[in-house]
Amino acid sequence: MYEKLTSPTIGSKITFQDGKPVVPDDPIVPFIRGDGTGVDIWPATEAVIDAAVKHAYGEQRKINWFKIYAGDEACDKYGTYQYLPQDTLDAIAEYGIAIKGPLTTPVGGGIRSLNVALRQIFQLYACVRPCRYYQGTPSPHKYPEKLDVIVYRENTEDIYLGIEWKQGDEIGTKLIDLLNHELIPSTPEHGNKQIPLDSGIGIKPISKTGSQRLVRKAIEQALTLPPEKQQVTLVHKGNIMKYTEGAFRDWGYELVKSEFRDECITERESWILSNKEADAQLSIEDNARKIEPGYNSLTPEKKAQVCQEVQEVLEQIWDTHGEGKWKTKVMVNDRIADSIFQQIQTRPDEYSILATMNLNGDYLSDAAAAIVGGLGMSPGANIGDTCAIFEATHGTAPKHAGLDRINPGSVILSGVMMLEFMGWNEAADLIRSGLAKAIANREVTYDLARMMDPPVDPPLKCSEFAQAIIKYFA
Ligand code: NAP
Repeated sequence: MYEKLTSPTIGSKITFQDGKPVVPDDPIVPFIRGDGTGVDIWPATEAVIDAAVKHAYGEQRKINWFKIYAGDEACDKYGTYQYLPQDTLDAIAEYGIAIKGPLTTPVGGGIRSLNVALRQIFQLYACVRPCRYYQGTPSPHKYPEKLDVIVYRENTEDIYLGIEWKQGDEIGTKLIDLLNHELIPSTPEHGNKQIPLDSGIGIKPISKTGSQRLVRKAIEQALTLPPEKQQVTLVHKGNIMKYTEGAFRDWGYELVKSEFRDECITERESWILSNKEADAQLSIEDNARKIEPGYNSLTPEKKAQVCQEVQEVLEQIWDTHGEGKWKTKVMVNDRIADSIFQQIQTRPDEYSILATMNLNGDYLSDAAAAIVGGLGMSPGANIGDTCAIFEATHGTAPKHAGLDRINPGSVILSGVMMLEFMGWNEAADLIRSGLAKAIANREVTYDLARMMDPPVDPPLKCSEFAQAIIKYFA
């Protein structure tokens, strides 16, 4: 029962089974129009998605849209500070999948961030941002077409848990005191470290459950990609933060062995196997020497550990993964966060899925999006086990609101992600190729038009861009 909403009378519910959506041909999908430029972007998006579904499936499939409210529009309908009404939460919970335009971050009351609130309420633990290039899109990069990655960013912990105390706060000061006088001195590896008394304090929790459910989603997605893109890179700063960032990497590798043994190979395992493939007589120790730089100067205990690792890999997976069979598996490797920032620029085509904790993924997904054309072309989704919300990654851009000029590409491409999530790939492919053709033919909105060489003048309006995409379905 809703306070101010009425569900569509036509259509069926999407349900979830084992974390996967079960989609009828006539799903009801709630949408949040969004504030600011949402008034321009949402009608353009709805027109493109509806036209693609109709073109792909005729009368057999149809989305029944259900308008729900958040942000300024919700306050108008439900009252002051009602940025995220219970009706909206109930509708998303009931129908499983929703799509939203940009929302104003509330000022002066209520919730700190609507987007963060939605992610936490529905445990949407994977923030997914694909970054791929559409030919002709202006880019600051020389070879943007080489980048085709999907960032899987953990969405519920790390800095998103938001546990911190202001400098001078009574509890924060107590915590510093406890750490300086009891907890740090009783942990020998921390030596004489002391936290300066005038510090703010933040807690960075990284859990095994949170890390593994994110990496699991990333591997499951990798298994659906073409063979050459079946790779997951665990991004971390484990060289400095061993028990949070380093643990994320270790738990990721542990998951490979416990749940995806037949489907995956780690980079280090691939070295061990290929060393033996190149030389069948290679001793365990010589193999260990090849995979571990500086092996000869290791302590005897460390050498024994590396040899044991080599032996175990050969015993456990030579039969299933050896003789080159590992080349058909999902490759799981890891990279230090600062190095991956360089590598997506210098060697972008070596990466596919980047699995990250919260903060690293925040930076990395924006950096990757910038390479392929920036905010207007950058879609996103927040996915959990019983719900998924697809959304603009940009804000409300208030100065452009209501002028029918903004680029609707981000929400349209989020709609493409939604269609793929529903398994409606034919409709998704139509939109992708229509969008690619519109851009290649220089039929673009102002943001891309001004960066093209030569600039496009006049640019298309927001609604005209949507029609240009639809025109290319034929
Ligand atoms: P913004 O809304 O993202 O806009 C900043 C600039 O980015 C715009 O002026 C425009 O640049 C460009 N831009 C934004 N959307 C675009 C699009 N669809 N196509 C092309 N260019 C686009 O950032 P903001 O002005 O800092 O934030 C405004 C409000 O949005 C704030 O309340 C913020 O909290 C909120 N916000 C919401 C979300 C969300 O709902 N997911 C995300 C971020 C921010 P030019 O004018 O130079 O063309």
